[in-house]
Amino acid sequence: MEFEAVIGLEIHVELNCATKMFCDCPNRPGDEPNVNTCPTCLWLPGAMPRFSQEALEKASLLCLGLGAELQPRSAFDQKVYYYPDLPKGYQLSQAHLPLSRGGAIDVVDEGGNPKTIRIHHIHMEEDVAKLVHEMEGRLSISLVDFNRAGVPLVEIVTEPDFRAPHEAMEFLKALRTQVRSVGSSECSMENGTMRVDANISIRPRGTTQMNTKVEVKNMNSIRHVADAIAYEISRQSAAVQAGETVILHTRLWDTDKKVTLPMRAKFEGPCVPDPAVPVIELSRDWIEKMRARLPEMPAAMAERFVTQHGLTGEEAMLLSSDPEVAGYFEALVGQGIAPRTATHWLTTQLIPAVRDRWQELSSSPVTPVRFAALLKMLSQDEINANAAREVLVQLFDSDETPEAIVSARGFGQVSDPNALDSLIDEVLGAQPAAVADVRSGRGKAMGFLIGQVMQASGGKANPKVIRELLAKKLGAIS
Ligand SMILES: [Zn+2]
Repeated sequence: MEFEAVIGLEIHVELNCATKMFCDCPNRPGDEPNVNTCPTCLWLPGAMPRFSQEALEKASLLCLGLGAELQPRSAFDQKVYYYPDLPKGYQLSQAHLPLSRGGAIDVVDEGGNPKTIRIHHIHMEEDVAKLVHEMEGRLSISLVDFNRAGVPLVEIVTEPDFRAPHEAMEFLKALRTQVRSVGSSECSMENGTMRVDANISIRPRGTTQMNTKVEVKNMNSIRHVADAIAYEISRQSAAVQAGETVILHTRLWDTDKKVTLPMRAKFEGPCVPDPAVPVIELSRDWIEKMRARLPEMPAAMAERFVTQHGLTGEEAMLLSSDPEVAGYFEALVGQGIAPRTATHWLTTQLIPAVRDRWQELSSSPVTPVRFAALLKMLSQDEINANAAREVLVQLFDSDETPEAIVSARGFGQVSDPNALDSLIDEVLGAQPAAVADVRSGRGKAMGFLIGQVMQASGGKANPKVIRELLAKKLGAIS
């Protein structure tokens, strides 16, 4: 029997607010353990939560950025369970009246077809404390760090629209880009600011039934989410083939063994309305004010790059997926650089060079103005591409302008036919076999000869002029 998978995702995103969700403690979970705490986020009896306006705004921007409908009325519930990382016995979460409903993200499936993944709702909740397991002598102990207790989170719950691991990966990448664009979170699975649980069930292909699902947690990269889903699909398929019944439970992804393993069941109690945090009422005006604060979202930006700058869809997607790269690209175009040239040099030369040393474009010494000056010299044939690459390397370590570097180091391109003539004759004299090949119509030899002349010129010759001169001398069609 052939099976298909039905997959839904639940994604926790940590908001990058200055403070926690219900107190003024700093939102810095990575600090020295238990320094960012107060009676409210130690959850001591009698401490009153005060809901953060910044958390509401960042969560609302995130919802609007994903095309979700902010609800005029939402409220916090107490999600009741006890665990050492939640000693007050309940987590403040929006179980009945979430902040938003609806929304969607478009992905491309494995076959290259567009597909829309619907979002069911997005709700806010506080994070729980963090357990740290250690050995003290021969005793294994568990420590509790409350720095993370009360950190503002949103949870994005999708419809079970995914059918393959690939779609989940595409969705998470697009989600990360969009949330970064609105500025609500850095959304990094590696750093724990984005955590993904996957609900997976299988059914015979072609049927529409919804079977018992298994929840998988503990993946710490987008790649691992796909690996865990793929593993779980084959595990469940094999189990059903063998006549076993899939039971509702939670499994943990083991990164080293690349398997999912069952985890101990957690007691989950009821969700009851919280009496201390007021109901959140959003006016139409307030929602529109938030909407006006949204930046241009990546999908809209990509579309504009295609129509306004003539980029291919793929180039436009690549640039718009990172707000910083998109801004740099537009700055280059603003300096009069042709969009295709800007895209090519930005993605193949500048970004790879910056990634290792500076990580971010904005911290590299090659500003858009300096890079544009270099590309202008290239497009006006004052230097060739080889020289441009070398000047770029020097721009990283020098404050000089590209123009100064070119004239000081003699990178200027030789385009004067008279100056190139004798070089070409020398090369032709030394390469009789390649000359014969070009004369008999073998085009590859032409590229070889151009390379030889280029080398003889110390990399300074204009390849276009070399090609023209060679074609004239050899009577070949260039
Ligand atoms: Zn606190």
